[in-house]
Amino acid sequence: MNKVLQSDKLHNVNYEIRGPVLDYANQLEADGQQVMKLNIGNPGAFGFDAPDEIMRDVIHNLRSAQGYSHSKGLFSARKSVVQRYQLQGVDSIDVDDVIMGNGVSELIVMAMQGLLNLNDEILIPAPDYPLWTAAVAISGGSPVHYKCDEDQGWQPCLADIESKITARTRGIVIINPNNPTGAVYSEDILRGLVAIAEKHNLIVFADEIYDRILFDGSVHHPLSVLTKNTLCLTFNGLSKTYRLAGFRSGWMLVSGAKANATSYLEGLEMLASMRLCANVPAMLAVQTALGGRQSINDLILPGGRLLAQRDLCLELLTAIPGVSCVKPKSAMYLFFKLDPAVYPIENDEMFVLELLKQQHLLIVQGSAFNYQDTQHFRIVFLPDKNQLTEAIARLASFLLAYRQ
Ligand code: PLP
Repeated sequence: MNKVLQSDKLHNVNYEIRGPVLDYANQLEADGQQVMKLNIGNPGAFGFDAPDEIMRDVIHNLRSAQGYSHSKGLFSARKSVVQRYQLQGVDSIDVDDVIMGNGVSELIVMAMQGLLNLNDEILIPAPDYPLWTAAVAISGGSPVHYKCDEDQGWQPCLADIESKITARTRGIVIINPNNPTGAVYSEDILRGLVAIAEKHNLIVFADEIYDRILFDGSVHHPLSVLTKNTLCLTFNGLSKTYRLAGFRSGWMLVSGAKANATSYLEGLEMLASMRLCANVPAMLAVQTALGGRQSINDLILPGGRLLAQRDLCLELLTAIPGVSCVKPKSAMYLFFKLDPAVYPIENDEMFVLELLKQQHLLIVQGSAFNYQDTQHFRIVFLPDKNQLTEAIARLASFLLAYRQ
């Protein structure tokens, strides 16, 4: 038989969070070695359980989840999503404006496939959450990366964005709070971004999956509140705030200037019906998760486990000579920098592979987030304090050898 080749459509798709380095880690594990995997923001893997109340309600209703649902999702889940945003000040939305998906990931791909023609451009932050870049590429579009400025706490650079808009630009992706940097964007910057989008008729794609994981009194401003004169698609789900990544449940809310977008929205509905519906048992969790007491607050306020781990990880990491890191105000990652004068790195992926080989510690290189230098890395601060201390000790000893 001839060789079975992958589609040419995948040639421009670069998705390294799962890639050769992870393959090596899996091989180590297959050989019986223990690997500290601090490469993926997977709360459940580190003992961040969802509240019992959610589990109980899902189990209670499970029998009713045997058939397909409406292709846009269960009414109760969609209504809860609408109410969540109404409480934040978004008007003129109802259940028809919500599509439930198997995680934000599925909806990102759907949003791009439904929109893009060959070589249409989408503005994406650098560093990015790489699925956005991959989804644009696989849909035939061209990802165009805009700068987020480390010296400005990783806020997006408005001048850089303006300079990259062309006649083919269709939309702008805004990941706020941000993965990998943990930045929470100021209201001024967000208003600036919306003004640019409205001026150039760009769709705002707001990935706000970390919007309730906020440290140090940071405030999140939803783009669905700020965007009036252009279309805004907001993406969020159960994976992070509600610690249910394995349920694969997320939503997309359509707001802003919907009247001119009927064709696109019909396309999205068609794509939603092509996969019949999202996972119904997982949608049973949405109403309980979104309403009532928000258990995430126990983890992020002073005395909370996630906050304490961020502080410890940042302290231990930045105590290593030549390591700096902008303090993340959200999410579950530190995106740190190794001073090139102390650690001149030619290939950051090889650096990560070597760290894995020597210390059995897995982190992610900055270039996997489409960030064009070799000195940045992302580490997850979800492990408990003992594990984090051990992980940073391993990194420190690797870096000590690298310096010498
Ligand atoms: N968007 C961002 C910014 C993320 O960091 C992630 C996961 O890490 C996702 C989307 C994927 O979310 P989901 O689990 O809902 O597919």
